[in-house]
Amino acid sequence: MARHVALITGASSGIGAEFARQLAARGLDLVLVARDEARLSALAAELREEHGVTAEVMPADLVDDTQRRVVEQRLRAGVDFLVNNAGFGNHGDFVDLDIEAEDAEVRLNVLAVVRLTHAALAPMIDRGKGAVVNVSSVAGLVPGLPNPTYGASKAFVTSFSESLHEQMRPHGVRVMALCPGYTHTEFHARAGIDTSSSPDLLWLDVEDVVRAALKDLAAGRAVSVPGAVYKAITVLTRLAPRSLARRTAGRLRRGAMKV
Ligand code: NAP
Repeated sequence: MARHVALITGASSGIGAEFARQLAARGLDLVLVARDEARLSALAAELREEHGVTAEVMPADLVDDTQRRVVEQRLRAGVDFLVNNAGFGNHGDFVDLDIEAEDAEVRLNVLAVVRLTHAALAPMIDRGKGAVVNVSSVAGLVPGLPNPTYGASKAFVTSFSESLHEQMRPHGVRVMALCPGYTHTEFHARAGIDTSSSPDLLWLDVEDVVRAALKDLAAGRAVSVPGAVYKAITVLTRLAPRSLARRTAGRLRRGAMKV
């Protein structure tokens, strides 16, 4: 019987590396994508050794059109599982941010997700099965949070995934948005975000985030929000008028900045 293959973007650290570990433990062969080839190779070697899977390393900067197209080609050849996880957030007031860095954020968080999903779906539809998990964020649920571009990019990913969830259902292909809250990874250090005053209660571990995501995917959910605290925040946000949620988030933000 042919073995199942998962392609994971942003597999060199954090949530993506944990998807690679948990999917390898379930016997899936892997294609690991990120920019840092040395880290991908080290992870691939670890997973081959521990789980006896094959692990292909595909270094690519997904902001770059030419490099991203190579990954699109690999997806068109067919995979069973795509995790669109690579992403980052610039931190600060929008007008103060470097517009080229904002451009890169949209290209990675939005454009790459759309193009890689498109490339992966046709062969999945032909086979009548497959799964796509798009890593979004609770930051996409409410406007007014620290970085407008990041929040909007994640709102896009969640809405895109929910629509595709319905479109793909008749084809036997599952599409789900994963919306984590604060998770211990390299994300905040890369963004230069000081998390020292964020309460412990809000922090999730990658193991729990990925375990919850795979459970929710198996249950056929369109959106996965790991952790009881974030589930509660999500419900409250949906119940509150959007204007109230926006103003509250804005006040919290101004309070945090002491403006
Ligand atoms: P992370 O540890 O910083 O991992 C980000 C991954 O994306 C790395 O593997 C990085 O690898 C890769 N990446 C970054 N830019 C790339 C590019 N141009 N091309 C290809 N790969 C690139 O952060 P993480 O928290 O695991 O982030 C994963 C996803 O979770 C992101 O989409 C993020 O928005 C989302 N998320 C995170 C949190 C959180 O609190 N951590 C919460 C909600 C959502 P290289 O540097 O090797 O390219």
